[in-house]
Amino acid sequence: MDQSEVVVLGAGPGGYAAAFLAADEGLQVTLVDLESRLGGVCLLRGCIPSKALLYVARVIHDAEALRAWGVDFGKPQINLDQLRAQKEKVIATLTGGLSQLAKKRNVRVIRARAQFVDAKRLRLEPVDGQDPGLSELSFERLILAAGSRAIRLSVFDHLGELAMTSREALDVPSVPDSLLVVGGGYIGLELGTVYATLGSRVTVVEMTDGLLPGVDRDLVRPLEARLRKLFAGILLETKVVGAERVGDAVKVFLDGKNGKESAVFSRVLVAVGRRPNSDLVGAERIGLRLTPQGFVDVDEYLQTSVPGIWAIGDIAGQPMLAHKATHQGKTAVENILGERVPFQPRAIPAVVFTEPEIAWTGLTESAAKSQGREIDVAVFPWGASGRAQATGATDGFTKWVIDRSSGRVLGCGIVGAGAGDLIGEATLAVEMGAHIADVGGTIHPHPTLCETLGMAAEVHLGLATDIYRPRATVAGRGSG
Ligand code: NAD
Repeated sequence: MDQSEVVVLGAGPGGYAAAFLAADEGLQVTLVDLESRLGGVCLLRGCIPSKALLYVARVIHDAEALRAWGVDFGKPQINLDQLRAQKEKVIATLTGGLSQLAKKRNVRVIRARAQFVDAKRLRLEPVDGQDPGLSELSFERLILAAGSRAIRLSVFDHLGELAMTSREALDVPSVPDSLLVVGGGYIGLELGTVYATLGSRVTVVEMTDGLLPGVDRDLVRPLEARLRKLFAGILLETKVVGAERVGDAVKVFLDGKNGKESAVFSRVLVAVGRRPNSDLVGAERIGLRLTPQGFVDVDEYLQTSVPGIWAIGDIAGQPMLAHKATHQGKTAVENILGERVPFQPRAIPAVVFTEPEIAWTGLTESAAKSQGREIDVAVFPWGASGRAQATGATDGFTKWVIDRSSGRVLGCGIVGAGAGDLIGEATLAVEMGAHIADVGGTIHPHPTLCETLGMAAEVHLGLATDIYRPRATVAGRGSG
């Protein structure tokens, strides 16, 4: 048996960040993962490959939009082998970089399926017949970063490769004539966009009464309007109640607000959420307290119910986002080093990388209202932005959620091209407790879309000049 001062279980964006920082702080670190390459789901079969495919979809979309400007590139010719190879190159470059970074830091990397034996030991089993070199590894401290996996629907269990999760879909095994996407959340809409742009007729079924449940409805509306043109259908309040193989295709039985119906699709993509991997590492065996959803319960210092074990990222609760995991990984290391650092962000940004993108951070308008908070909402429509007009991005808008009594910004929502990049500034403002006047008083570069953050603030302050909002009174100005 071997031992390590710190073991990090899981090499995703949370786990590798924790391992690298712990090594930089002088701790002796072992990083254990099932995969032969570092980066976890995000890098190998999530955020990065999906963004590579969405980049292609965006360029195809932009090229089509240029027809209105008198520029016609014709119908795109898509070479799937080359598309896959290019995507793989992106992944290989990043994961290769991580491997180098691990070596430089003397982080020992072990490929194995790990399970807890007790609160100080892991059992290591071979993956794909590859001997990990050790059967057990003991540790003084452990950071559990074992992530999550796609939820499967039993109704599709017998369909083999005809029913994909994001894992298979990101390999783009083919471009099916028709694709049923089950679930109108992040993955369903991002990958639905990719497949529809590559040429599939995409239908989305969503169980709730709207796409992207939980996101402010006004932010979803411009996206839904575009998706209704791009997709063959969007069926809300609809469930899949049965499925059977018909030759090379799938007959799906749906039950929705318009009653029961059936339809045949070449392939199905199941994107109904993810579940934590706490069961796969034997968390319960060592008495790690779990939430009813199976997440490992942690306190604000990311400490689990078992001394010496911290948990971060998807396995430690919502939101299941890579950047949250990375920050938690670093916080866990600081706590291992004896600093008392709580993980208490005011804002965790979220981005749906569709066309247009939707991004939000901090408190959403709908959450503020359901909590009964006294807020003001300031909106700047992109139709009034010169940059949006010049780039065909006019269906976006930027809105701030502002605390009525203090004037501090509590949250921000943006829909439009590049919203995911714009939300960074808003996140900094919320995190720093900025006043809306700080945002309005900040000189933004012209002509850009980030200007809309300043302009939305000016709408609130009654200082906007690019749109006309009649004022009830001008009392108090210039009156000495
Ligand atoms: P999700 O929670 O975003 O969406 C799942 C959707 O499926 C929901 O709208 C839900 O109402 C619906 N649904 C559930 N059961 C259903 C059923 N039986 N029939 C029809 N609809 C059903 O989950 P996801 O899209 O699978 O993504 C999983 C997680 O991965 C996300 O929560 C997110 O944290 C992460 N993710 C993030 C990004 C990003 O940051 N851009 C992208 C992809 C995934």
